[in-house]
Amino acid sequence: MKKISLLIPVYNEEESIDALYTALIPLLNNTHTGLNGKSYDWEVILVDDGSSDCSAEKIKELHNFDSRFRYVRLSRNFGKENALLAGFDRFTGDAMVIMDADLQHPVSAIPEMIAQWENGFEDIYGRRLSRGKESITRKLFTQIYYGLLNKSTNVDVLPNVGDFRLLDRKVVDAICRMRESQRYTKGLYCWVGFKKTGIDFQTSERVAGKTHMSPRRLINLALEGITSYTTAPLRVATVLGFIISLLSICYMIYIVCKTLVYGEPIQGFPTIICTILILGGCQLIALGIIGEYIGKIYNESKQRPPYIVSEESPADVNNDIKIKP
Ligand code: UDP
Ligand code: MG
Repeated sequence: MKKISLLIPVYNEEESIDALYTALIPLLNNTHTGLNGKSYDWEVILVDDGSSDCSAEKIKELHNFDSRFRYVRLSRNFGKENALLAGFDRFTGDAMVIMDADLQHPVSAIPEMIAQWENGFEDIYGRRLSRGKESITRKLFTQIYYGLLNKSTNVDVLPNVGDFRLLDRKVVDAICRMRESQRYTKGLYCWVGFKKTGIDFQTSERVAGKTHMSPRRLINLALEGITSYTTAPLRVATVLGFIISLLSICYMIYIVCKTLVYGEPIQGFPTIICTILILGGCQLIALGIIGEYIGKIYNESKQRPPYIVSEESPADVNNDIKIKP
């Protein structure tokens, strides 16, 4: 029988876990009507990303109660991207479904993903039909961001497509080989390729709690996405440098000619100040962009592990876990 793993990152979700369990049971028992009588071996990998509430204890209880639920507890909050990698590393099935613990990703869409997987697709992503109750600024920001990201790369990152997806074993293996510690998994899914298709789903409201994606985290993730996915900003800095130099040379020629023809009493203070300010600003922006990339090189050169496990369910210890060096 084919084995499907569900990977669920959990960060301060103690109020959602009971509802999550109830929602998953029909699927795990192969009694979900969407499965059309098909049966699979199921396992759920819950990765506790350093929660400060009782999520870790609840997950452990769940494992003791139902051994199909495995748990991995990270030593602190490493962020969703790294928590996902911890789950990928522990994957032993034929396909993996990634979903959020807050049930914003409907369980009812999973059988449809499995059907597409059985049809031969290797990466079936969920496409949000609406973005739910998100602020207008977040929606607008997302739209502009994906526009910019896709213009600067030749591998498209789809908007309204997140981590809710089914991955074939081959895709998970490929993603596991990418060990960068500053991760942008959404970009990695696209980068590895494989046969993709999408299914539509309606985002539900969180069952409990509130989002952890503060504007600061979202901005960091967005910058991470651009800088880990493309070096286009460096090129923009170069192009901008060329344009400004060209304009400066034209202006210089104009000033020299004007001085030769009319002479030059000391004048032009505002022009000098404006030029210095504009050039200074451009130089700082370019330095900032270069700095972002140097920062990334610095962090990656330390070769620290992307996450540290403090505890995991005993079944994992005996299992053949393929943690890559
Ligand atoms: N999450 C995580 N680590 C974090 C932040 C979030 O593992 O540092 C998990 C969280 O428990 C949830 C999923 O990632 O299962 C999505 O988080 P959230 O619902 O806060 O994000 P949103 O749906 O608002 O984008
Ligand atoms: Mg959510």
